[in-house]
Amino acid sequence: MVDAITQQSNTINYDKTGLVSKILTFSCVDGPGNRLVIFLQGCNYDCITCHNPHTINHCDHCGDCVEPCPTGALAFNDSPNRKVIWNEALCTQCDKCIDVCPSKSNPKITTYSVEKLLEFTKKHAPFLSGVTISGGEATLQLPFIIEYFKAIKSEESLGHLTCFIDSNGSLSEQGWNKVLPYLDGTMIDLKAWQNDTHLWLVGRENHRVLHSINLLAQYGKLHEVRLLYIPNKTDLLSEIDAVSEYLKTLPEHVTIRLNAFQHHGVIGEALAWDKCSKVQMEEFEAKLITKLGRPVITPSVYT
Ligand code: SF4
Ligand code: SF4
Repeated sequence: MVDAITQQSNTINYDKTGLVSKILTFSCVDGPGNRLVIFLQGCNYDCITCHNPHTINHCDHCGDCVEPCPTGALAFNDSPNRKVIWNEALCTQCDKCIDVCPSKSNPKITTYSVEKLLEFTKKHAPFLSGVTISGGEATLQLPFIIEYFKAIKSEESLGHLTCFIDSNGSLSEQGWNKVLPYLDGTMIDLKAWQNDTHLWLVGRENHRVLHSINLLAQYGKLHEVRLLYIPNKTDLLSEIDAVSEYLKTLPEHVTIRLNAFQHHGVIGEALAWDKCSKVQMEEFEAKLITKLGRPVITPSVYT
């Protein structure tokens, strides 16, 4: 099994770049301990219930957001292939640009080299337990993640940091094999049990997700599985027997976290769906615990 892991070159490409939409310097909900969370732009799912739809597509520099920006933080550059440039110093984070973007994108993207992100990481390292790469779908920028994790693992002063990925589970086995040597853990979403339901909800089948969960569990790199509960819309309750039998096959140390569907950030048809109430979540939790025979984590806040 271990032979399948693809050992990468020991050379680190510090110039490799990634497109970053946001960085949180402190989070205690994106993996164990206090974590630096780097959100990468771009996603290969198109979830009806997405809470951050502006992280799905890459900006095509149409310029529709330049004029509505009230502070002049957006402008075209001078190059022949004109591009929209974001001036962070002028930005008030009003998000008007995100509201007007016709492409479910975001002009507030920063290009980070591995070197620049490593320097940023070092500044915050004394307060951190680790780093988590999230998205969008983080693994769409896998070569950048691999170089960044390699760089962290090569620094003695960062030896206390664990390297995690928060993913929708769509990465191929070959892709996971490339990052496994530098990866300490993952959080993977399982949004529906039946393939048809998953396809309807996110636009992709769930075979890869289940394969990723199994693979990462085998290698001891699965930290958490997240179930999105949307009452009367998805099948996690109607398929609770099959879901619990599957979850029982995962190692005991893997956390099962239940997420409740809420409206925050959602656009389109899912805004007309009922939110998951605390009572509905507690009913689902009680049924799942009975079948599963182990505790699960539920949300602390319902908006
Ligand atoms: S969030 Fe967007 S629209 Fe608002 S100030 Fe910043 S760049 Fe301009
Ligand atoms: S963020 Fe959206 S509106 Fe602004 S330039 Fe890019 S694609 Fe156009």
